[in-house]
Amino acid sequence: MIAFGFRLLLAVACLALAQAAAPLRPASAADLETTKAAIQRSLDVQYPRIEALYKDIHAHPELGFQETRTAARLAAEMRALGFEVTESVGRTGIVALYRNGPGPTVMVRTELDALPLLEKTGLPYASTFKQLLRGVETPVMHACGHDIHMAAWVAAAKVLIDMKDEWSGTLMFIGQPAEEGGGGARAMLADGLFTRFPKPDYGFALHVGPAPYGYVSYRSGVVNSTADGFSITFTGKGGHGSRPHTTVDPVMMAARFIVDVQSVVSLEKDANRFGVVTVGAVQAGNAGNVIPDTATVRGTIRSHDEPTRARLIEGVERTARAVATMAGAGEPEIRISGSAKAVVNDATLAQRSGAVLKRAFGDNARQMRLPSSASEDYSEFVAAGVPSFYFGIGGLDPKQMAEASAKKIPIPGNHSPEFAPIPEPTIRTGVQAMTLVVLEVLRKN
Ligand SMILES: [Zn+2]
Ligand SMILES: [Zn+2]
Repeated sequence: MIAFGFRLLLAVACLALAQAAAPLRPASAADLETTKAAIQRSLDVQYPRIEALYKDIHAHPELGFQETRTAARLAAEMRALGFEVTESVGRTGIVALYRNGPGPTVMVRTELDALPLLEKTGLPYASTFKQLLRGVETPVMHACGHDIHMAAWVAAAKVLIDMKDEWSGTLMFIGQPAEEGGGGARAMLADGLFTRFPKPDYGFALHVGPAPYGYVSYRSGVVNSTADGFSITFTGKGGHGSRPHTTVDPVMMAARFIVDVQSVVSLEKDANRFGVVTVGAVQAGNAGNVIPDTATVRGTIRSHDEPTRARLIEGVERTARAVATMAGAGEPEIRISGSAKAVVNDATLAQRSGAVLKRAFGDNARQMRLPSSASEDYSEFVAAGVPSFYFGIGGLDPKQMAEASAKKIPIPGNHSPEFAPIPEPTIRTGVQAMTLVVLEVLRKN
């Protein structure tokens, strides 16, 4: 309902101001409406194609560093728009440049990858795709909405090309592989992202989340959490399930670790600071009456600041070693990997971009009070020195959300096999918001 009202307003503005000149500096509410209407006109013409692209990508999700079909599809779209496209940057990444006179270089990033999940949305365009993950065939799903991001990325590029007389500078649209497992942003940087191509003056990225469509959210400073993956293998001594005294049971070690590590969070971490340790995967044995030799637990550590991060990592390692010592086993094998720093929005750019979103979206643009607990390797680009604005958009039906909340039923969010953003209002909001913040830094004076 909210987004419908918003679009209705744009449609009215579009009729009233059709063909009018569109100054980019939103000096008045009328000017901003003119720019919004121009974006909307471009979007209206291309929308059916964009939705078809979205559904095609959704039905063909690919895991990190295996996104060859996805990357080829996006590369073709960008070439057709007149971008100069380089493929295989950071293995499966793409870089698309469009030079339009002097001015800043602006990076707009989308992720390309999906998750190893069996889709349960029941949508007509649901994925039945499978790929190999660590040698095992696994169902794959766009459960984090990266398909929404890709559709909005292509559409925003087209809108900006349609409005190219009104801005000056260089667009650098990048498709980044392997965001989920981490490593994709780093792979692109290691492959010369900011040396073979221009180093951006500004960077932008958006993420869809479980909020009503039509909404945008943003904040200055820290936006989300640090993330460190861990994998711990306990090695004991296997044997018959009826004779545990002749074994050193690694399943017991894993179980103890899973429980005890939570005291690091509840007792050792400053209670006023955000931090979690979650175990998401346990692998041990394959028979109920056999004690296996090894047990592996995998998990993730999240926090908003470096001291908390260091404390939690040290606590995870110490707990794993203590559990092994207690069982009389040898040292566990501990691997901390896929680390991501927190994304930190540039204060000046966030203020500038946030002000544009506030004026364009009104009450539907919300400042986040706290950073999110999710994490993102977009932080690598920030750490490489690109002043950035990373913001959120809602993707779910507001009516459905209100009903679910009244009935106290959790609504499926990102990484759920039932996560199903509503394509049209979500993509349109993403394109409007992304185009407006990019135009704000590229507009002709
Ligand atoms: Zn995700
Ligand atoms: Zn994501």
